[in-house]
Amino acid sequence: MNEFSLIDTWFKPIPHHRKEVVFGIGDDAACLRVPPGMDLLVSTDTLVEGVHFLPSWRPYDIAYRAVMVNVSDMAAMGASPCWVSLALTLEAADESWLADFSLGLSRALTQYNIALIGGDTTRGPLSITLTIHGLAPTGRAVRRQGAKPQDKIYLSGALGAAAQAVALLDAQGIDPADHALLMKALLHPTPRVDLNEALQAYATAAIDISDGLAADLGHICKASQVGALLSLDSIPIHPLVRTYQGEQAVLFAMSGGDDYELCFTVSPLNEASLLEHLAHLGLTGYCIGVIEATPGLRGQTADGPCLLLEEKGYCHFKG
Ligand code: ADP
Ligand code: MG
Repeated sequence: MNEFSLIDTWFKPIPHHRKEVVFGIGDDAACLRVPPGMDLLVSTDTLVEGVHFLPSWRPYDIAYRAVMVNVSDMAAMGASPCWVSLALTLEAADESWLADFSLGLSRALTQYNIALIGGDTTRGPLSITLTIHGLAPTGRAVRRQGAKPQDKIYLSGALGAAAQAVALLDAQGIDPADHALLMKALLHPTPRVDLNEALQAYATAAIDISDGLAADLGHICKASQVGALLSLDSIPIHPLVRTYQGEQAVLFAMSGGDDYELCFTVSPLNEASLLEHLAHLGLTGYCIGVIEATPGLRGQTADGPCLLLEEKGYCHFKG
């Protein structure tokens, strides 16, 4: 199978219903029409075998996760995901691998009405790069900068399940039901695009938790030139993280990545409106702390002293 029949078989047929795509796969470039009143947001994420996924994973899951990780970047900006291009490097044109990969890709894209508009296919060590494009009303995309002292810090959901799945990858004798639940969190994360409008209306800053809460909230603080005080008892933690980590659960969940929940800040003046908006959508926001003028990340429990927290998370280039 050559590169062209591979594209025609496994990528071109993936259906979409996006009216802004003037034309997609098949030309030297795709043509997209940004609707009036909208800004275009662009983000790229690469998944490398052995770093972001294991050779033993189902190609379906690798593709699915690659899409969700990219969709999450749009969710973090308060933008709706619209189109992706795919740069795929393969060791060989293995038909059964490609069929399963294409199925996972198609399922994930269809779920969010995202069009595959093009890409590049090359031979080499397996890696998947997606570039996602999204739309937000002009001037309304939410950035990492913008958090102000007194703003409340919110999380969209519980942390730690994906990191717990990674920690147990090679473990023997764990409850198969627990294992399945944790692997689902790792392989099929749910990006929080449903918070888009709430973020556009009320958030002063936002980020998705890909490298761990401590590291990612650290990015908001750095970009906004502020610090944060976290109420450690209020951080929602996945119940299985409590089971497997015991006393260490909160710190484990804070430094573990891959959750793809959102962390965002809101002015105390807008907090009630935000919560009302979320409740209306059947969503929950968890208040976990407050922004402070003093730089750095601090944590407090009900009865304990204030701790200085390390802003550590996953980092590809240490040192
Ligand atoms: P060119 O030689 O001009 O770079 P290619 O032969 O690489 O074009 O690609 C042909 C068409 O197929 C282009 O429209 C390109 O965007 C698309 N394409 C290539 N690889 C992929 C892929 N993995 N997924 C989706 N579209 C792809
Ligand atoms: Mg090319």
